[in-house]
Amino acid sequence: MLTVAAPIANAIDAFSRLPGIGPKTAARLAFYLLRAPADEAIALSEAIRELRERTIFCQRCFNIAETDPCAICQSQERDRQIICVVEEPSDVLAIERTREFKGLYHVLHGAISPMDGIGPEQLKVAELLARLNVEPVAEVLLATNPNLEGEATAMYLARLIGPLGIRVTRLAHGLPVGGDLEYADEVTLIRALAGRHTM
Ligand code: ZN
Repeated sequence: MLTVAAPIANAIDAFSRLPGIGPKTAARLAFYLLRAPADEAIALSEAIRELRERTIFCQRCFNIAETDPCAICQSQERDRQIICVVEEPSDVLAIERTREFKGLYHVLHGAISPMDGIGPEQLKVAELLARLNVEPVAEVLLATNPNLEGEATAMYLARLIGPLGIRVTRLAHGLPVGGDLEYADEVTLIRALAGRHTM
């Protein structure tokens, strides 16, 4: 076992806990920050601290935000007749990057997965239905992931929302099946948004 100064070992350990970061990349990041200008390293630590301290959940759409309601829910520019339902806040970011969607969002915080013991009660489903009762929604676009759990969640929601007289649409296929929305490239996502179909 190599002996490394404790602060370096701690940083490597912390980085290697992050998704997609193996021990070698963790070491590269630690040594990079050690050599980088001091303010760059401090800016990073500040960004991480603020990530946790300055964010809350919007109590309307359950996206991560600085304010409640969030900037999207408050915006007068957005089309209030369409709500795009996604699994995670990172999916909102992916769709916002396309600049194609002008409606509002609703973040479920997961997908139905009986294998993992996750049912609709664990998700923001009741909160979505409550919104549909009071907001002037004409269309719900189900943009859950194109995998087993995402499809099951979309089917479940379509059955609940359909009878309310609201149009229910699903992202067009062309998204990689089994994949994650957040990793889809923008062109694929723009096509999927444009080609959405009624469920
Ligand atoms: Zn919101």
